[in-house]
Amino acid sequence: MAKKLTHDTDPQPREKMTVTAADVGELDLGQMSPEKIVRAIERRCRGPLAEGAQETISKLLADGQLDEARALDAASRKVCGQDWNEIVLSHPFDGKSHETPCPKCGTLVRWTAPVFQVA
Ligand SMILES: [Zn+2]
Repeated sequence: MAKKLTHDTDPQPREKMTVTAADVGELDLGQMSPEKIVRAIERRCRGPLAEGAQETISKLLADGQLDEARALDAASRKVCGQDWNEIVLSHPFDGKSHETPCPKCGTLVRWTAPVFQVA
């Protein structure tokens, strides 16, 4: 049985906040360039997992312990912070899945390119 984690054991607890519709403006995507649409969402490399953490995280996920898995994942990473939008924008917007090593930390990141319809 995997060690059960609580938020008290998370070395970097995150402040919880609630975002409501009043906090979020509406984006008129038709008026925005694909680059601005991609950059509207911040994407950062989460960095490499500590050795052996993935197995425990997988067990927690299989057990339905999502909060514990998320906490262990956060606690087991050496934060990288590479701006992943730079990677997304350097590829075609073809909707294809990619596995790209992070240029900063080398972690293999799986991601899917966006697709933009052309009128
Ligand atoms: Zn990285």
